[in-house]
Amino acid sequence: MLTREDCLQLDAKDTISALRDAFDLPEGLIYLDGNSLGAKPKAASLRAQQVVDQQWGQDLIQSWNKAHWFELPMKLGMQMLDLLGAWPNEVAVTDTTSVNLFKALAFCLKHQAQKDPARKKIISERSNFPSDLYIAQGLSNWLEQGHELVLLDDIADLPKVLNEECAVLMLTHVNYRSGAMLPMQEITALAHQHGALMLWDLAHSAGAVPLDLRGCDADLAVGCTYKYLNGGPGAPAFIWIHSRFLRDFEQPLSGWWSHIEPFAMRPEYRPTPGIGRALCGTQCIVSMSLVECGLDVFARTDMQAIRAKSLALGDLMLALLEQECAGLDVQVITPREHARRGSQICLAHPHAYGVMQALIKRGVVGDYRAPDIMRFGLAPLYVRFVDIWDAVYVLKEILQKQEYDPDAIPLLVS
Ligand SMILES: *Cc1c(COP(=O)(O)O)cnc(C)c1O
Repeated sequence: MLTREDCLQLDAKDTISALRDAFDLPEGLIYLDGNSLGAKPKAASLRAQQVVDQQWGQDLIQSWNKAHWFELPMKLGMQMLDLLGAWPNEVAVTDTTSVNLFKALAFCLKHQAQKDPARKKIISERSNFPSDLYIAQGLSNWLEQGHELVLLDDIADLPKVLNEECAVLMLTHVNYRSGAMLPMQEITALAHQHGALMLWDLAHSAGAVPLDLRGCDADLAVGCTYKYLNGGPGAPAFIWIHSRFLRDFEQPLSGWWSHIEPFAMRPEYRPTPGIGRALCGTQCIVSMSLVECGLDVFARTDMQAIRAKSLALGDLMLALLEQECAGLDVQVITPREHARRGSQICLAHPHAYGVMQALIKRGVVGDYRAPDIMRFGLAPLYVRFVDIWDAVYVLKEILQKQEYDPDAIPLLVS
């Protein structure tokens, strides 16, 4: 039998427990939604004030140089190398994940068409995050070059669909709904065996699991900074491009920030060498400035320590669900095996929406995904072991006493 006392002891032994203090979290709230919107680093308040009041308010236009606004996308990219397993000058922070995916995918299709026009297939999973699939549909419809989006219902079928017609394999490493993680190295190698490019979406991986894009020899990747990286709502995303492509990388959003001489204001477009080619126009500096506050917390530890705690939190939650919630109609849909899960535990329940509303009312914040999933993100920088105990205990009470509205209907925006 696990007790609350056991969980407090796990917290006492936690080597990264002090990092929780770097975040502002409302008193008494158990926040298990860092996979959707990470908590606010305390430093973000002062940084926002500096950027708004000093850099913008006082220094105005001078801040492009004085505060290094222009270099910010690359500077932040350099701060992400260890998180991604990337090499210097391969990462930029810019735009949104959807926009970066568009640029990356557009490059993949063009690059492949130049080598072999018969490579027209984009392979992905039906369970991928919808925006990724919409971007792929939008781009291929727009191009009118006969590209086809092939969606797998079971990733085990991948070897059957990969062939000389595949341009790119576009997958999300950790599934947003189930928390299942794909074997990056193995899948990347498989894609390459068939001449396909490998494009990873790391929205639920960056800051949650150790990544080794270089070691896996992936080609391109994109991901969010506002989830596990705690960059703030709508914070700009990142894009990683293996340097073997950077000499020739091109993308359709060829705005002036990707120009070799942006301030020469020439009418002809000439891309800058390197990852700067992935940029488009003027960046959202205020929001982008806050990304650094989240990354600074990661610089105080490493992804091995974060992963160890993430798995321990997940194991604890699985054990407590078994101990406390057996027979209460909750079904774990996240793989239990360490190698196959990211940093969230997802449960199916016939009244998932109503149960999640009841949890939130009692101060346990996870989220709901249609039709019957409750997601609990375990952000190791600030989630405590005792939080898992308390969350499962509240869940058990809600289920046992049927303290939820079985007829609750999800709002369109939740
Ligand atoms: C959260 C998420 C996104 C978000 O994309 P935005 O452009 O920031 O809205 C994209 N892809 C995946 C897999 C996600 O989980």
